[in-house]
Amino acid sequence: MSDTVLRVPDPYADFQPVEIVESREDSLAILQQWQAGQMAAALDEMWEYRRQFLYESFDVKELHYKHSGPVVEGNDTVWLPLPGPGSPYVQPFRGRISSRFGFRWGRMHYGTDIALRTGDTVRAAFDGVVRIAQRNASYGYIVILFHRNGLETYYAHLSKMLVSPCQMVKAGEPIALGGNTGRSRGSHLHLEVRYLGAPLDPQYLIDFGEGKLLRDSLPICKTTLYGVSYSDAMYHKVRQGETLSSIARKYRTSVARIRVLNNMKSTRIRTGSTLRVR
Ligand SMILES: [Zn+2]
Repeated sequence: MSDTVLRVPDPYADFQPVEIVESREDSLAILQQWQAGQMAAALDEMWEYRRQFLYESFDVKELHYKHSGPVVEGNDTVWLPLPGPGSPYVQPFRGRISSRFGFRWGRMHYGTDIALRTGDTVRAAFDGVVRIAQRNASYGYIVILFHRNGLETYYAHLSKMLVSPCQMVKAGEPIALGGNTGRSRGSHLHLEVRYLGAPLDPQYLIDFGEGKLLRDSLPICKTTLYGVSYSDAMYHKVRQGETLSSIARKYRTSVARIRVLNNMKSTRIRTGSTLRVR
C-alpha cells in the first residue's frame, strides 16, 4: 500500500457553496473525458474538483476526512449532482437491509448494513478514485472511494480488498469481497456515504430495494446532513411522565424531527432510554 499524501494547495480560493449547482455542465464534461478513456486528464480534473469542493487533501491513510469549519454555512443548501445516464449508480451488493442509518442502542450508526455472505462481490457505487484501502479495528477491511461530485462512499467489514489507493474505478467494478472483519457480528456490508467527512443517510439517495438512485441531485443542508450537527448533537434521557411533545418543546424542536433523528416508527418512548434531540 502506498504512503502518498497528495496535498492540493490553496484549498478555499473563492468557494461559494451555492455555485456548485452551476458547475453541473463541467461535471458532465469530466464524465465524458472519463468515458473517452482520458484517465490522466480526468484525474487532474478530479483533484481540481476536490479543491472546488473544499477538500484540502487527498489523504490515503487517515480514514475520515476532517473538515475545518462547518460543512454547510448557516441555512445554505449545497446541491451535488448525482451521476446521470452516462455514469450509472450500481448497487454495491443486492441484499436485504439488516440495519439502517441512525441513532440506536445508545450510539450512532453511520451507515446502512446489507446482509451478504463472506466472499460475495462488492461493487463500486459510482465512478471514482480509491482513497482508502486498509484494515481498521472497527471497520475491518475497508475501501473508501472518492467521487467526482464530492461524495465519498465507504465499504466496510470486507474479507478481501481488490483495489489500492489512487486507483480509478468505474461504477459496478468489483472492489472487494464482503465479509465479517472488524467490529461486526455476522457477514454484512456496511455502506456509508459522506460529504466532507460528514455522514448522511444512504437511504436518502439510494432505493436499495430497486437498486436505483432516488434523485438526480442531492441537496445537502443542516437538516439533511446528520454529520453537520453531530458536533453539537444533544441527547436526552427520558424521565417518568415525559412525552415526545414535552421533550420536543423543551429542546425547541419538533416531534417529527426527533423521530427522524432516532429512526422511530411510533411516538412511544420508554423511561430511562436516551433520545437524540438535536
Ligand atoms: Zn453498519
